[in-house]
Amino acid sequence: MEKIRIPYIMGDGTGPDIWNASRELLEEAVIKAYDHEKEIEWIYLLAGQKALEEKGVLLPEETVETVKEVKFAIKGPLTTPVGGGFRSMNVYLRQIFDLYVCMRPVKYIRGLPSPIKNPERIDLIVFRENTDDVYKGIEWEAFTEDSRRVIKFLNEVMGVDVAEDSGIGIKPMSKKATERFVRWVLNYAISHKRRKITIVHKGNIMKYTEGAFRAWAYNIWEELFRGSYGNDIQINDIIADNMFAQVILRPEEYDVLLCPNLNGDYLSDCCAALIGGLGVAPGANIGDEIAIFEPTHGSAPKYAGLDMVNPISFILSACMLFEHIKLPKAKELIEKAIERTLKEGIMTYDLARHLDGVKPVKCSEFGKALLQRLE
Ligand code: NAP
Repeated sequence: MEKIRIPYIMGDGTGPDIWNASRELLEEAVIKAYDHEKEIEWIYLLAGQKALEEKGVLLPEETVETVKEVKFAIKGPLTTPVGGGFRSMNVYLRQIFDLYVCMRPVKYIRGLPSPIKNPERIDLIVFRENTDDVYKGIEWEAFTEDSRRVIKFLNEVMGVDVAEDSGIGIKPMSKKATERFVRWVLNYAISHKRRKITIVHKGNIMKYTEGAFRAWAYNIWEELFRGSYGNDIQINDIIADNMFAQVILRPEEYDVLLCPNLNGDYLSDCCAALIGGLGVAPGANIGDEIAIFEPTHGSAPKYAGLDMVNPISFILSACMLFEHIKLPKAKELIEKAIERTLKEGIMTYDLARHLDGVKPVKCSEFGKALLQRLE
């Protein structure tokens, strides 16, 4: 039997609940799909709070080396303290492995409750640039020596008017990072026969960052793609605030959303809400060498250990991984099992609360229900 080695990071907060509900399903799907010729061999890796508790460091060397060697991993959510404490391990992982594309597909599954009329028309992908913009993490706290120096420079040298008591953040967006991201997404869109690309920006206000992102994206399209693919795929752009309204009112008109970092972050959660919420929204962070698959949601600490949250987002992220490592049949089996289970009205609290008369099941019960419907 061929062993498929898959490194996994269980994650913080609800991470262990989700992992426990999903593991057997993922293993069985591979065994069933490939008629006992393949099986998963998990490689347990640490990162974040758990790594700090067990190894005294947030990211052990072993984790980095294993991911570099295997070139992919699945990861649960990691907690980041707000307003202090350690930096975001999620952002750090994306930086050290140069995972410059964040991909978040949003596709309706029958049986999911939705706040909109025709959710079955939703089949889009939010692509988010993963290295620039607010992910650079360039900030200085108000009333510190550093922020005073930056404010002095801005006011005295650059001739702008920044209040002395400001915290300062800088949002750089570079041509090089934008172009390689856009190239990757356009190649993906073409090879996956997508029909339309929409550049989502706030270039009316931030002309030299978001506006530049828009211009560089169009340039790449003109220079490298339009001549060969101009008849197959459309490209347009939209101002980010309008995009939020459009995607709620007419989601079927959108297909591939090409976003700078912060817009993509907000927009992917908004789109997830249209098909049932963060509990069903998978994702991947992808670079030229390595890809890490993870749910869009965070560690939801208030639900940690309650065996309550929805594991679908994590399971669908694993399905993306299966596709990435050429195990598409395992992905299909799981997707069908999810659809069957939801159609029978078996769902966790986050979905059940939107439907009359549906009693929620626990996270672990939902995992078992999926396993029983894996055919
Ligand atoms: P969050 O963990 O995503 O949770 C926000 C809300 O989303 C939850 O309160 C819950 O909504 C819903 N939700 C999240 N996961 C769910 C699931 N599996 N099933 C059903 N519903 C789910 O966001 P947060 O509370 O802002 O962040 C918590 C921590 O996670 C922070 O430290 C943050 O930095 C971190 N984070 C990590 C990642 C990552 O690892 N990639 C991503 C985002 C955030 P209801 O309350 O309505 O039930």
